[in-house]
Amino acid sequence: MRTRLSICRRKAGYPDEATARAAAESFGLDLRTYRCGRCGAVHLTSRRKGKRIPRPAP
Ligand SMILES: [Zn+2]
Repeated sequence: MRTRLSICRRKAGYPDEATARAAAESFGLDLRTYRCGRCGAVHLTSRRKGKRIPRPAP
């Protein structure tokens, strides 16, 4: 349970990574995509903290 439900609910969810990336580019932001283990959608997250790669839930 790595993704908090509160975060999940207020973030936009995309059906797949390609869609999420396209959205990130349209925002003009350097965002990383990750698959949400809670809702199954792809969310965007900022990369400000460097390499913080979310790991898939076991
Ligand atoms: Zn989610």
